[in-house]
Amino acid sequence: MNRQFIIILILDNELKYLPGVGPKRAELFKTELGISSWGDLLFHFPYRYIDRSKFYKINELNKDLPYIQIKGKFTHIETSNFSKNKKKLIGYFADSTGVVEIIWFQGINWILNSISRDKEYVIFGKPTIFGNRINIVHPDIEEITKWQTQLVSNLYPQYSTSEKLKTNYINSKLIHKLCDTLLKQVKGKIHETLPPWFRQKYNLMALEESLFELHFPSDTKSLAKAQYRIKFEELFYIQLNLLNLKLNRKQNTPGFVFDKNKDNILKDCFHKNINFKLTNAQTRVLREIRKDLASGKQMNRLLQGDVGSGKTLVALLTMLMAVDNGYQACIMAPTEILAQQHLKSISKFLKDLDINVALLTGSVKKKDRVKIHEDLESGALNIIIGTHALIEDVVKFHNLGMVIIDEQHRFGVEQRAKLWAKNINPPHVIVMTATPIPRTLAMTLYGDLDISVIDELPPGRSKIITRHFKDRDVLRVFGFIKKQIEEGRQIYVVFPLISESENMDYKDLEDGLEGYSRAFPPPKYQISVVHGRMKPADKEFSMKMFVDKVTQIMIATTVIEVGVDVPNATVMIIQSAERFGLSQLHQLRGRVGRGSSQSYCLLMTADELSENAYSRISTMLNSSDGFDIAETDLRLRGPGSLEGKQQSGFTLDLKMANLSQDGQLVQYVKDIAEEILEDDPKLSKNENTVFKLNIDKMNKGIKDLGEIS
Ligand code: ADP
Ligand code: MG
Repeated sequence: MNRQFIIILILDNELKYLPGVGPKRAELFKTELGISSWGDLLFHFPYRYIDRSKFYKINELNKDLPYIQIKGKFTHIETSNFSKNKKKLIGYFADSTGVVEIIWFQGINWILNSISRDKEYVIFGKPTIFGNRINIVHPDIEEITKWQTQLVSNLYPQYSTSEKLKTNYINSKLIHKLCDTLLKQVKGKIHETLPPWFRQKYNLMALEESLFELHFPSDTKSLAKAQYRIKFEELFYIQLNLLNLKLNRKQNTPGFVFDKNKDNILKDCFHKNINFKLTNAQTRVLREIRKDLASGKQMNRLLQGDVGSGKTLVALLTMLMAVDNGYQACIMAPTEILAQQHLKSISKFLKDLDINVALLTGSVKKKDRVKIHEDLESGALNIIIGTHALIEDVVKFHNLGMVIIDEQHRFGVEQRAKLWAKNINPPHVIVMTATPIPRTLAMTLYGDLDISVIDELPPGRSKIITRHFKDRDVLRVFGFIKKQIEEGRQIYVVFPLISESENMDYKDLEDGLEGYSRAFPPPKYQISVVHGRMKPADKEFSMKMFVDKVTQIMIATTVIEVGVDVPNATVMIIQSAERFGLSQLHQLRGRVGRGSSQSYCLLMTADELSENAYSRISTMLNSSDGFDIAETDLRLRGPGSLEGKQQSGFTLDLKMANLSQDGQLVQYVKDIAEEILEDDPKLSKNENTVFKLNIDKMNKGIKDLGEIS
């Protein structure tokens, strides 16, 4: 048995076998924190460290302070009733500057028996306010003499726990103690996961030392070095793995070669039906795509661009490259309406050209559907536009060469994989998204794809005027809507929705709808309503009424977020805008401003806004660039909100790195990973075998998904 194997076994030990844990606690650790092995516990890093060399004076305490430390004596301890049959214990704790109340709701007898009024204590906790007085509830408490001997370092780690864990006495302090026990058990047995040459070159602390530092820091400088090492490794392996997957795919997946340029429909389309110039960004992206398509390798590309940046046209021109080379192409959209809109705009560009296009969705009649199936199989159809109906097994292509997936995040990995399998060799694939993703995030989530960005809007777009209104201004807003409707325009009103099944959100919409119905009564005004509780067919119908201008107002939850295109709609009203994320707000705003008339986005909020909500609203007022907004969004929301799954099917579970702050490091380690793979594509050199071992370990269990995008 080699050393590596033994070591893996040690960190893979079940948590219940750690002294001090046992089966009951182990179960709690697993369900509450997802910690089930020794390794899991070691990688459950403190979320912060508190400087325990600093003592506050009691008269300095206020509720806004984080965890603090004070020292003093109890002058008096009493129990009092805090509800009908519940007691609380109040200890009056004093230093030379004042007195503060220390409160316990649990373990009262134990505290009463163990606290002495003669001894000096150190109290460590979070000041809160209750009944106008500063309290510290359930603090850590230690006799000062013991405290002095226990203190290994001034930096005292805080671990996240949960309410349930705390009621079972599994608090931060206990976790710290368990880590201590654990580190003693594994000392000298933690296998290094980065080769020596690498650690030396990039000045990285050893893994074992880092783990000790993280749980028992010796000083801030060493702690920072330990944190850097873990972050570095985490991000590096993600990049190495993604780049390796990409490399393998390119080597192993041949692609159809599209290199014919003569006599083509693409040229015809340009000359006859496109009366504007492509933007520089569109031209650049098309060049990137064309290069891929001639390479003989299968293309897998993510196409990012803000709403209205002209992705659909790029997609179409790419499909025409396939058609010009004798292949079929398809575009798959997440909803019927989106598919219809693609058909509409694409047909406009293909007018009078010798090309056959059809729409395949769930609502196509049986008879027509059979015909479409036949024509796809015979090759009579060149381009098919559709929804999930395209991936059904009955759909067979004559020669599918190019697949475009719109709003790819709305499809699962498995669904996308089905399109891959529609030809003997996989077709080229472009996935499109209108939700701009910050660069470093895209590199991490989609690092196994090539990425193209359309970062420029076609010229002549007028800016959408964005304004912030408080709810009490609603009458002014109604007045504005009426004027717009008189001018023949249409209005979106959006209410927040957290989950499609939540009753509360539905109630918001219902209340709001009532207000709007009263202010805009029939027959003069007609309102469409769309929300998550409706059947898909009813939703589609309601949207269609709006698209067809039968209704002037569309009241909806965020279902309209993706892709609807109604150029005549000029006003987007977002109710409770403070409850939306920035990217969502930006997406919603992008629903207007699609025609030639001046468009508006009105953000309605409550009077009082949190600081974070205020930042979001003011970002919307000040910026119209989706990438800029996405960066701010990532910064404001932090890393917790990221899409859980990477493109390739890995779960993105970062223990230390923070994608909103570590962008530079992402780029840095990516370059390093590239350099290593360039020099040793199979990672077969002796000095790189550790890398190979570790990425194989990362990929264990997701082999099937690793090849799909
Ligand atoms: P996206 O799909 O990126 O949201 P679209 O492809 O729907 O954007 O483009 C929005 C509109 O802009 C469409 O009406 C399209 O015809 C038009 N458009 C695309 N490219 C250009 C361009 N280079 N110049 C002018 N208009 C363009
Ligand atoms: Mg579009």
